[in-house]
Amino acid sequence: MKKLTPKAAFRKLAAIYDKMVAQYGEAADAIGMTCDGCHDNCCLSFFQHHTYIEWAYMWEGLNQLPADRLEEIKAKAQAYVEEGQAALARGERPHIMCPLNLEDQKQGICGLYKHRLMICRMHGVPNVLVRPDGQQVQFPGCYRCQELTEKVEADGRIVPVVNRTSLYKDLVMVEMQFVGKNLRQLPKVDHTIAEMIVLGPPKLK
Ligand code: SF4
Ligand code: SF4
Repeated sequence: MKKLTPKAAFRKLAAIYDKMVAQYGEAADAIGMTCDGCHDNCCLSFFQHHTYIEWAYMWEGLNQLPADRLEEIKAKAQAYVEEGQAALARGERPHIMCPLNLEDQKQGICGLYKHRLMICRMHGVPNVLVRPDGQQVQFPGCYRCQELTEKVEADGRIVPVVNRTSLYKDLVMVEMQFVGKNLRQLPKVDHTIAEMIVLGPPKLK
């Protein structure tokens, strides 16, 4: 498989992200879901990301920020990692705001919106993924979405579910084209956004 230049791989990833946004938007509109005034915030959720391409693309966005803003984010990311490790050591699931969130400026706004990762884009509406081993992974949507989908069902309407299987396959393909033949030799990516910031841009050799 031909290895892509980073720029070409980023363009492909951005196109996949655009498809995700469109599918998310269709489902959210049908459910009547918006994030306005949400009292929870999915940017507090603890989750890992699994591709080098998304890690690198996030850094592509970080490197466009003013130097002082980037330093501020790095400090928040370091604090997140330490706090997260302490919570895990206590047997608790970390509940810490993502270091990229502009919580101090406006609650809930992503400070790297264009470069935010796949899971960030899909959290919210019901979605399903059929993994290569055939196992189906289902997510019912966030708490607000679940309240709304109960009403949709009560009205006798069908709840829209985004099938992100083809999007996931496209992401795997661009990951292979981005990393190239070293992919199998490299460590598996399993990092929070904070860890990806503390570690710096991914090393592909
Ligand atoms: S990258 Fe943005 S959308 Fe994703 S968790 Fe962080 S602040 Fe939220
Ligand atoms: S997706 Fe759901 S939990 Fe996340 S901000 Fe929107 S309404 Fe809140």
